[in-house]
Amino acid sequence: MLKVTKFGGSSMASAEQYKKVRDIVLSDPARRVVVVSAAGKKDKNDHKITDLLYLCYAHTRYGVDCGQVFDMITSRYFEIRDALGLQVDLETEFAVLKKRLDEKAVSQDELVSRGEYFSARLMAAYLGFQFVDAVDWVKFKMDGSVDQPASYAALRRQARGEGVVTPGFYGLMPDGQVHTFSRGGSDITGSLAAAALNASVYENWTDVSGILMADPRIVENPQAIPEVTYDELRELSYSGAQVLHEGAIFPVREKNIPLNIRNTNAPEDPGTMIQEQFDTDADPSRFITGITGKKDFSIVSMTKRGMSNQVGVLRAMLSVFERHGISIDYTPNGIDNVSVVVPTESIAACLYNILAEIQQEVRPDSLDVHDQIAVVAAVGRKMAFRPGISGKIFAALGQAGINIRMINQGPDELNIILGVDNRDFSRAIQVLYDSFAK
Ligand code: ASP
Repeated sequence: MLKVTKFGGSSMASAEQYKKVRDIVLSDPARRVVVVSAAGKKDKNDHKITDLLYLCYAHTRYGVDCGQVFDMITSRYFEIRDALGLQVDLETEFAVLKKRLDEKAVSQDELVSRGEYFSARLMAAYLGFQFVDAVDWVKFKMDGSVDQPASYAALRRQARGEGVVTPGFYGLMPDGQVHTFSRGGSDITGSLAAAALNASVYENWTDVSGILMADPRIVENPQAIPEVTYDELRELSYSGAQVLHEGAIFPVREKNIPLNIRNTNAPEDPGTMIQEQFDTDADPSRFITGITGKKDFSIVSMTKRGMSNQVGVLRAMLSVFERHGISIDYTPNGIDNVSVVVPTESIAACLYNILAEIQQEVRPDSLDVHDQIAVVAAVGRKMAFRPGISGKIFAALGQAGINIRMINQGPDELNIILGVDNRDFSRAIQVLYDSFAK
């Protein structure tokens, strides 16, 4: 059995965190592949190494000396190395890098990738594992997408040791240049490694005990979700906190490898398990997986009498939005009425044009815009075919005096979407959480 583990920036931020990582890795012999991020913040006032590297690059680009920032970066690594008593010659590598930087001989991608590179060098030494550089296995195609077969084959060839540490976030372009993923991309590297090696699980270690049932800025101390499917996760992350880089889903999903979000600071917590589907139900009394939402939507609502008997009215309305390049979130409708729900920001610039065009092309009996709408989504795969869930939702909101402005439920019954006034947003989330969390 093989588990691929990925440790995020907060897990790599200090020598103490390295110790926790080591304890976690060594406590399970299956944890033989370790993907690491660059050092993150030790505390609120600290800086992420990756941010400092971007800053360093910006300095040199504009001809400003980056010596001070560079020293901040190197001192973080020296601190960790020395506190752990590791014998890794960072001095020489840093000197070479600084020289190349001064000569403007380092690309931005290469420079920012060094955060992960040095993390991995130190962690490999600390664990006594083999260091496999990401440029030796993560292969990009010219269009910037990952060449999965080539990358998988390369990692299988490279990872010969008993244990392997590899840096996240970057790889190699066909022209030999270092290329990085977008921010947070070490999650993708971990997922690729898990897929390459057919791991039994991809463990993504971070600083929360999994994906939370609701936004902790709204609900105090929300529970972590024990099990979530990929489809639910997509619904939850569309409007909620992003725990994982979106690109991290595909490689493991393709190979049906479960993804487990874990907390380096609370390794005994089981975290959140993400899978295509769950054959058994660990918790049959839990109906709602999570509650999420976003504020600041607009509802463009049109009524046209007799619309239900006419062909093409809906298309005519929607094509106006399409012409303006507006992506539509929901289209709740009645017999002679249809509403289009979009983020206010996305239509602000062209709203009056859109309304004028709808007037002209669709000739509605009425056309209104409602602003300050929040969308709240109760997500749960187990809602399907289970009567009473929406009743419970509406009762809870009704009792709290929250007016529902819109209701939408997809045919897959994966979520119930409600529109409420912006001012009721937080309360709606709290009320739903209180009625469904256990
Ligand atoms: N270090 C990179 C970032 O801060 C990549 C990562 O941590 O996943 O975005």
